[in-house]
Formats: sequence, structure tokens, C-alpha cells
Amino acid sequence: MESGVGNLIVFTGPSGVGKGTIVRELFKEVDKLGFSVSVTTREKRAGEEDGKNYFFRTHEEFDELIEKDRLLEWAEFVGNKYGTPKDFVFEKLKSGNDVLLEIEVQGAIQVKEKFPDAVMIFLVPPSLNELEARLRKRNTETDEKIKLRLAKAKEEMQHTEFFEYIVINDDAMRAAKDVKNVILSLRGKKKIKLDLLEEMLTESEA
Ligand code: 5GP
Repeated sequence: MESGVGNLIVFTGPSGVGKGTIVRELFKEVDKLGFSVSVTTREKRAGEEDGKNYFFRTHEEFDELIEKDRLLEWAEFVGNKYGTPKDFVFEKLKSGNDVLLEIEVQGAIQVKEKFPDAVMIFLVPPSLNELEARLRKRNTETDEKIKLRLAKAKEEMQHTEFFEYIVINDDAMRAAKDVKNVILSLRGKKKIKLDLLEEMLTESEA
């Protein structure tokens, strides 16, 4: 039996750093890479679609997913919950594809604890001032929420020791290329162990 499947790539970094732009670029450029759509309790922003950007759910629905052990990881972020559905990730990995999770730091650390072979990539802004400027320019959050996101960013940037790759987002296209190179260079090398995946699936079915 095959001992490894695809790679699980955990892509994180503070809110506003530009993870979304890079994910969109990777989506265009890298084949055999599945993107996990997360579940969230946060309100839909203009232009976002259910099932595409996120699965938008109520707090009750989210809590039920936790209770039924349907999430690979989940975390609270500035007053809302965000989580990764297990099924999509497992199916994709088992079929030999890599899977990319674009998540915040607490969730990223949970994934690393469950899957030590997960590939950990941290995207950092050139500076905190630049991060604030990007959050304000995005114009999706209130001033109060921006302040909370910035405080969270400072805290998140204390956890870089969990990450194997640190990419500076001073230029989105170059940063996307760096992330792409990491993903491609690991193909055929380190892989998530199939037995760990199956163990987790059995646990959640029990
Ligand atoms: P936003 O509200 O800006 O879409 O996302 C806020 C933060 O939640 C971002 O840092 C984003 O990467 C993170 N996030 C999105 N989906 C997930 C998830 O499934 N799990 C975790 N732990 N964080 C997530």
C-alpha cells in the first residue's frame, strides 16, 4: 500500500497581509492543488459567495460541526469562528493531490500538531505600518475591527517558530512565485502519511 498521499500545505500570516491574492495566483499557476473552502460564522462581505469564498454558517451550525468532529481544525478570530472541513481535505489528499489551507495561526498550529508532515508557510508583511495601510485600503472592516486585527497580527507574528518557510510579501507576484516554488519542490518528497489520515477519519466516524 502507498505510504504517503499528497502534501498538506498550511499557508498563514496576519489578516491583511495579502494571502488571498497569492492564493488566487497559485490557483492559476499550480496544477493538482486543491484549495479548502473554510466554514465561518463571519458575515458575508460584498462580492463573496457561499461555497466559494467560505461556507457561511450560523454559530449554532458551526458548533454542530465541532460537536460532530467534522472539522480538521478551528479557531476564533476577532469574534468569529473559522474552521476547515475534514472531508474535502482527506479526499483530495487521498487522491494524490496537494491541499492548501489558507488559515490563521492558531488553526495552523493545530494542523501541525495533528500532521507533523504538514508544510508550514508564513507570509509576513514588510512592516506593521504597511499591514495597517493594507487593512485600511481594503475597506471591509470598521476601525475597531482593524485595531483588533492589528493587535492579533502582532501576536501571530510571535509564532513563526512553527513555520518552515517565511515569505515576505513586499511584492505579491514574487511572493506567489516563492510559495509556488516551495509547493513544487516538495512534490514527490515529504508526504502526509496515509495511516494518520485514516486514523483521523475513523475517529470522526466513531
Ligand atoms: P477573513 O475574515 O479576513 O476572511 O479571515 C480572517 C482570518 O481567518 C484570516 O487570517 C484567514 O486566513 C483565517 N481563516 C480563514 N479560514 C480559516 C479556517 O478554516 N481556519 C482558521 N483557523 N482560520 C481561517
